[in-house]
Amino acid sequence: MTKLNLEVAAFFSSLLCFTYMLTAKRKQYKLNLGIKNTLMNQHFVYMVTVFSIIVSSVSSVGALMLQPIASDPMELSLNILHTCFFLSHNFLPMGFALYILHFTGSSGGKSRRFFILFFLPFFIAEAMTLTNGLTHWVFFLDESFSYHRGSGMFFFYACGILYFLLGVVFFFRHKKAISKGNSYTIGILLALSGAGVVIQAINSKIAVELFFESLSAVGILMMLEERSGHIDPLTGAYNRVALVDNARRLIETNQNFRIVLIKLTDIDLFQKLFNGREMDSLLLQISEYLSFVASNEQRLYYFRTYDFAILYSGSSVSKVEDTVNTILKRFSDDWKSGGASFKLEAIVSILRIPEDITTVNELTDLLTAGYRKTGLGSRVVTYEEISSNQRNRKIEKALREAVDSEVLRLYFQPIWSVDEQRTVAAEALLRIDSDALRKLSPAVYIPIAEQCGVIREIGLFVFEDVCRFLKSMKRHGIDLSYIELNLSVHQFIYDDLVERFESIRKKYDIPTEMINLEITESASIEDTPNVEKTINALRELGYSFSLDDFGTGYSTLTQFLKTSYKNVKIDKSLLWDSDTNEVSAKLLDALIHMVRSLGCNVVQEGVETSEQLERTEASGGNLIQGYYFSKPLPQDEFVEYLKREKESSGSKPSSDNAPKIKDAPNTKETTKAETSLIKEKPKAKEKTKAKDNPKIKESPKTMIKTSIKANA
Ligand code: C2E
Ligand code: MG
Ligand code: MG
Repeated sequence: MTKLNLEVAAFFSSLLCFTYMLTAKRKQYKLNLGIKNTLMNQHFVYMVTVFSIIVSSVSSVGALMLQPIASDPMELSLNILHTCFFLSHNFLPMGFALYILHFTGSSGGKSRRFFILFFLPFFIAEAMTLTNGLTHWVFFLDESFSYHRGSGMFFFYACGILYFLLGVVFFFRHKKAISKGNSYTIGILLALSGAGVVIQAINSKIAVELFFESLSAVGILMMLEERSGHIDPLTGAYNRVALVDNARRLIETNQNFRIVLIKLTDIDLFQKLFNGREMDSLLLQISEYLSFVASNEQRLYYFRTYDFAILYSGSSVSKVEDTVNTILKRFSDDWKSGGASFKLEAIVSILRIPEDITTVNELTDLLTAGYRKTGLGSRVVTYEEISSNQRNRKIEKALREAVDSEVLRLYFQPIWSVDEQRTVAAEALLRIDSDALRKLSPAVYIPIAEQCGVIREIGLFVFEDVCRFLKSMKRHGIDLSYIELNLSVHQFIYDDLVERFESIRKKYDIPTEMINLEITESASIEDTPNVEKTINALRELGYSFSLDDFGTGYSTLTQFLKTSYKNVKIDKSLLWDSDTNEVSAKLLDALIHMVRSLGCNVVQEGVETSEQLERTEASGGNLIQGYYFSKPLPQDEFVEYLKREKESSGSKPSSDNAPKIKDAPNTKETTKAETSLIKEKPKAKEKTKAKDNPKIKESPKTMIKTSIKANA
């Protein structure tokens, strides 16, 4: 193939790429004002590089065609064509290197000095080309208008090699930010354009350089540009795939960046008021505003319906706070569409990477975090808030699945009577045997179950399982006075609660006296409908009540005095505090005395050590629940526990012979989670516990075996 043919082929293939970019991918390289912004755009760099191939090939073809018929008047035209060729051709190696820099996502972190040094050889080459008329360093035409290379051409080759090597360095340095497929593509294309340069440098008659470069441009279009072109057609912003892709590159290359999330929480309400065109125009207005705020330096993403994001990397990170304030200010003003003016609620949050998020998975999880309209107006939410919101949603989903898939379990924690010196009752505690919830304490998911209404099913399950257990007691030869179960105030919302409980109870034929309902009185108890009515109805039927978590902010003295309870359960945090705090110890002592003098039983929760047990007994506490005796146990282990206790004739356990049983494995994390999520336990107490209960680390099964052996 002649040089002319090859240059024509290069022209057509690059023209094809250019036309495709201009038409199909127009929105990807929106022309931004300012050279920096423009050069920061990967797609724009690609466009300019392809355009350089076109100019190079056109000027080369023009020069080749003029050459044989050249005459004096054509000398200027020939010189212009050769100059154009070099001006555009100098861009190519630099363009490839810059493209790879952008493609690996590492351009954002580079300083101005880096870019000055990066562009310097290119600008020198361009200056040499422009002044060639005076210096003839690059090329010159002899008398017969034949073209000759000048000595400065070596500088061009040196620049070409330098940029080629830079491309290779950028590629290898940030290789892990590029997917395997893309790595191969870049590798092959780098090799292809490198080969073209080398072949032509060795033998200028084999003029494949431009042709190979145009082939590389086609390759980039097909393999990289096409795939990385993720534009939302309506807003013109990048889509979710682009956001995740870009964030992945930045995370993989350990860069520090920020993502500002802008979630429009109530815009969907306008869907009913506006037609599709008006909604689109509203969205476009918002998108244009946000892309203006992003000042074209950062990318705007429209990653989910009504959710936008702006990504700040490199030096722009410092602008994040200002941007957030500007956005909030705009959202405090009206938007206009369909002839109406209205306010929109935007929830804005800043994700800091790597401070908040370190993996792409965490990011994708957070991107799906939904926000319901809060009615509080546009505001900033912290990362902690979105992640806990996200976590609550996951828990809500897991709870819904759990109630449908028979993974609810009921555990029992013994309640020891000081007077009778034996276990007289137990508290039924919920556990959920699903991957998502196994390790969480009910204290974490019960409030979520209350909010989403799943508490109704849970409550009925617990009630039925308690009745089933009570029914089985005779068969197992065990004897308990009653079982306590936790009743959420939210269960009172349902009018048929008494009816449902009664039909279950009757089905198992359990006397109401054997069922004790624990309630935690809180401010919400007064606002919840039906509470008083339902409690009275249940009490009339013979059910008894315990006041749970007494001594915390939840249960107040006035509420306690208003209602009559059989048991008052003193919160474990007060007991634990009194280990180290004298005021708490005095308060606890006084509380126990007071409750006992009013004729109620005191159930002290959270007793873990012999000192705590002794203190509680000394104050007059008559019922004890805590790890000192046992953690909550699955039903069969609880039955074993009671049988063993009966065999050892109800002797009160000391720190040596206590039938202590550790919680079942699947609840091991629960208490840890509970402790950290709900109340900090004093460290001093942990030490005592470890000291007193060396067996506490053993598995429940081993404990049972050991204990059975010991008893035998
Ligand atoms: P609660 O009703 O106050 O239950 C006592 C909690 O203290 C249980 O945690 C129990 O395992 C734990 N505990 C008892 N003794 C000790 C001890 O010596 N040391 C330590 N560290 N912890 C002890 P759990 O099972 O994680 O339950 C947490 C809360 O979740 C319960 O507090 C209750 O409010 C709620 N809950 C549990 N099951 C149900 C249920 O079936 N329905 C409702 N509505 N709420 C439930
Ligand atoms: Mg309770
Ligand atoms: Mg409690």
